[in-house]
Amino acid sequence: MTSPTIVLYPSPGMGHLVAMVELGKFILHHHPSLSITVLISPPSFNTGSTMDYVRHISATVPSISFHHLPTISLDLLSFPSMEAVIFELLHLSNPHVRSALASLPASAFIVDFFCTSSLPIAAEFHIPTYFFLTSGACVLAFFTYLPVIHNSTTESFKDMNRLLHIPGLPPIPSSDMMRPMLDRTWSEYQNFLNFSNEIPNSAGLIVNTFESLEPKPLQAIREGKCNPGGNTPPVFCVGPLLNTENQRGEYNEVECLKWLDKQPSKSVVYICFGSLGLLSAAQLRELAVGQERSGKRFLWVVRSPPTEDKSRRFLKPPEPDMEELLPEGFVVRTWERGMVVKSWAPQVAVLGNAAVGGFVTHCGWNSILEAVCAGVPMAAWPIYAEQHYNRVVLVEDMKVAVRVVEDEEEGFVSAEEVERRVVELMEGAEEVRREVEKKRVEAREAMAKGGSSVAALRKMVDLWTSALCS
Ligand code: UDP
Repeated sequence: MTSPTIVLYPSPGMGHLVAMVELGKFILHHHPSLSITVLISPPSFNTGSTMDYVRHISATVPSISFHHLPTISLDLLSFPSMEAVIFELLHLSNPHVRSALASLPASAFIVDFFCTSSLPIAAEFHIPTYFFLTSGACVLAFFTYLPVIHNSTTESFKDMNRLLHIPGLPPIPSSDMMRPMLDRTWSEYQNFLNFSNEIPNSAGLIVNTFESLEPKPLQAIREGKCNPGGNTPPVFCVGPLLNTENQRGEYNEVECLKWLDKQPSKSVVYICFGSLGLLSAAQLRELAVGQERSGKRFLWVVRSPPTEDKSRRFLKPPEPDMEELLPEGFVVRTWERGMVVKSWAPQVAVLGNAAVGGFVTHCGWNSILEAVCAGVPMAAWPIYAEQHYNRVVLVEDMKVAVRVVEDEEEGFVSAEEVERRVVELMEGAEEVRREVEKKRVEAREAMAKGGSSVAALRKMVDLWTSALCS
């Protein structure tokens, strides 16, 4: 019998690519006879890191093949957001996806939700398509339910000003919906709605989560409460899939890890806003003041504020100038108990260090999973994408984070609030600490032999192999 080839199609963002490749590695680890090919969509931005990563995986995991789609040139400045760029890029890549699928004997096509426009192509070739959610089941519940909300009103989320009751989730303010979806006239909203409408037509929904992390939204989806009267494909929870490239061994020489090794157990708060989160210059200074007043040890990844220059919007920000950005004397005053690092830290290794006792996070899904796997309680400070939505779930449902409260109008977080939350996170928050520890153990069990995520993977692979036999 021929071994099935599974084609993975991630969207260009690094977080999405890394999660998809980790899915490929997870499949191959348990089912080494399968073949995995990853379609790499042409990155019009951040080309350096994507290509370096792909080269690294090609060299270290030769059983994963990469198929590079041709480059598409786009006038980035004509797009309102990164999400709009990605949707357009993937749409324009479709003829190349068709050529790729025509040349590959694919038994299954696993696509990122940004790649929805490629579904009809897979249908032409009779290849079953699975969506891969790089966010949690809470976000899948929202997308499955979105057509119900859409058809019940003509208002945009930004104008609704009410609580939304999505099955399986705590009530969520309409203003906390995904940032690029707040206005229904935006093309991003239409594209995400298109994804929602295609969910019932997919062969399955693969989610980077584990059963016991999000039981309520998973139950609501599976019972059809998010798509009343419609079809709900099977849901496979195969996580937590973490970035295993981001491991201690590779970063032994990194200063911040050496520094963490010298700090007392669970004494350091780690502050980082994902791969893209930028704070204004005023907010950076305010955070510094609050952090200093808290008296707690800290490791802080500082980035330059967002640029005013429209032409540089989608480019990597310049290295931050600490002297200019942080309050006068901050680094000197806090040098014995704090460390600021420029732009990036090896996060998985940082969170896994015994000295880290709390994480101020922007609530990106990968960061959440990484904190849960390390058993580190969080303070939830969202900035963009679906992070405000995630915060509600983290704080009110999972109870693994305390909420950082911002000013309602401006979204500004005061120094007093930073001080209060950091102290609460490091000294109080008993329930949060207990819950995150419980989830840490459950995450490990899910990925171990006989665990729920391994069992879900087996079910999926059985579907692919039985289709080949029939
Ligand atoms: N990350 C990191 N160091 C940093 C910032 C981010 O290693 O200084 C990694 C982090 O470990 C995570 C990813 O980048 O795997 C960020 O993904 P997430 O979904 O949390 O947020 P996004 O950047 O996609 O908003």
